[in-house]
Amino acid sequence: MRMAEEIRQEAARREERAAGGREAARREDQAAKRSGETRRRQTAKRNYQKELERVLEPLSREGRAPTLFLHSCCAPCSSYVLEYLSQYFRITVHYYNPNISPREEYDERVREVKRLIQELPARYPIRFVEGSYEPERFYEMARGHEADPEGGERCGLCFALRLSEAARLAAEGGYDWFTTTLTISPLKDAKRLNAIGEEMGKRFGVAFLNSDFKKRDGYKRSIELSARYHLYRQNYCGCVFSRRGQEE
Ligand code: SF4
Repeated sequence: MRMAEEIRQEAARREERAAGGREAARREDQAAKRSGETRRRQTAKRNYQKELERVLEPLSREGRAPTLFLHSCCAPCSSYVLEYLSQYFRITVHYYNPNISPREEYDERVREVKRLIQELPARYPIRFVEGSYEPERFYEMARGHEADPEGGERCGLCFALRLSEAARLAAEGGYDWFTTTLTISPLKDAKRLNAIGEEMGKRFGVAFLNSDFKKRDGYKRSIELSARYHLYRQNYCGCVFSRRGQEE
């Protein structure tokens, strides 16, 4: 009798242990699913053009025109972006590009952006603000990255330098939004640019307008507009390193 009772108790203990194991496995499964779901959300491909359209749609419906501080890299890239966004925003074009070399190239790009603004028809008037030309700031930032390929780490730092200045001034000026023309280039990674823009927006307390202006044939349209307005189209990104790369 006693032996039978011991066997029964041992069986009950085993069943209890097995039930505990099953419960632990179930919890682990759930945790793995949850972390997989988080990873999926984090790596899901964002459609920045759609995100932009979600901002624009209520503006045209409500007839509002918020202010936008737009960092511009050059006239060709700005052409389509201004044609598109000036239907929705009161834009101030901000020209801050200490990366551009040599000085003559910088001056030429500034002249062309100003001329474009004068000649391009726009629903709301477009203002222009030129930042300082401070190449030493760019070279300081690029130190140790001179040999990076275009699209490498130096370019991320270059984007951050320019977008941080735009975010700072946009916040100081009380603008509703800020953004950059840079995402129109097929050579520039929109995901990386938008991530930097969002980070700068958070740092300075101003909303960053996500974009991927090359979508919806934006890049193609910029080529058409460049031809129509006879805009100077440079054949290198801007800095001395990209120029060297182009020459080679
Ligand atoms: S290649 Fe263009 S984005 Fe990269 S560092 Fe030079 S100017 Fe900046």
